[in-house]
Amino acid sequence: MIVLEREPLWKWTTLRIGGPADRLVFPESPEELAPLMERRPFILGGGSNLLAADAGIRGDVVCLAKGFARVEIVQRRGGMARVYAGAGARLARLAAACYRAGLTGMEFALGIPGLVGGALIMNAGTGEGEMKDVVERVTVMERGGAQREIAVDECGFAYRASALAARGVVTGAFLRLGEGERETIRQTMRRLQRARLAAQPLDLPSAGSVFKNPPGESAWRLIAQAGLRGARVGGAQVSEKHANFIVNTGGATAKDVVALMETIERRVKATSGVTLEREIRLAGDFSADGAR
Ligand SMILES: Cc1cc2nc3c(=O)[nH]c(=O)nc-3n(C[C@H](O)[C@H](O)[C@H](O)COP(=O)(O)OP(=O)(O)OC[C@H]3O[C@@H](n4cnc5c(N)ncnc54)[C@H](O)[C@@H]3O)c2cc1C
Repeated sequence: MIVLEREPLWKWTTLRIGGPADRLVFPESPEELAPLMERRPFILGGGSNLLAADAGIRGDVVCLAKGFARVEIVQRRGGMARVYAGAGARLARLAAACYRAGLTGMEFALGIPGLVGGALIMNAGTGEGEMKDVVERVTVMERGGAQREIAVDECGFAYRASALAARGVVTGAFLRLGEGERETIRQTMRRLQRARLAAQPLDLPSAGSVFKNPPGESAWRLIAQAGLRGARVGGAQVSEKHANFIVNTGGATAKDVVALMETIERRVKATSGVTLEREIRLAGDFSADGAR
């Protein structure tokens, strides 16, 4: 089991921000994970929806990326397939494996960064589909170390949310996918990737959409209407290309990003009356200024 002491979290987040974790631990089996659960660790996925504090995270941070990454077709029958995906597998690797096997349903996930575990917690997705559409059962390890399976209707899946974190660590999921035409799957993936490249600032570090879309509205439109495209605090900037992305233009701190998010929340409320809800998750202690 790999254990990194005082490991800077900016190395493990797509925003490239975050101070040290006391210990970053990579268990490779349920037997290694179980005793770690007693220490109530923070669970890190691919760090693609996270703002980690400048002060870092005290105690253990556990990441399943080095083990728990199995992707396997466990059954194939009558035009359907059941696939097991470990929480530590990259979501894009799962999507690619499904394409290669001629299975349809995961096309939406190809361009979403992060791991299967994080995608389940967040019910990650796009207008073309989300995790809850393909999940049959989620496997978790509870705080006491017991392993459980949770049926999809007990996962509390909602728009970019689930109730899974309260159940412990997500270790994987059984997915239900359909047989498809490889060429059709490939074309759908290419179309979605092109649309993503055109719409998102993928040349700079970010954590994707910062705010959830309010019902019937787009967060980016409200932020743009508030005149905040290009607004900045320190190294953090509202993307010119996609106003619901905050990008790290170099040397941004978590404090910069929080200040920018608060400005957005205030200005959008003032201009449109809408209270934005954060999609991005904060990790660590934000009460102190926490210089790096
Ligand atoms: C360029 C870019 C584009 C993006 N596009 C999209 C998009 O189209 N759609 C979309 O939905 N999201 C998108 N995102 C956001 C992000 O990729 C997703 O939310 C992703 O599913 C997060 O997964 P992760 O593994 O990185 O989770 P992390 O960011 O590491 O963690 C997210 C939360 O889940 C918890 N967690 C992670 N793994 C586990 C586990 N195994 N058990 C228990 N808790 C866990 C963490 O503690 C944290 O609270 C984008 C991000 C970027 C940077």
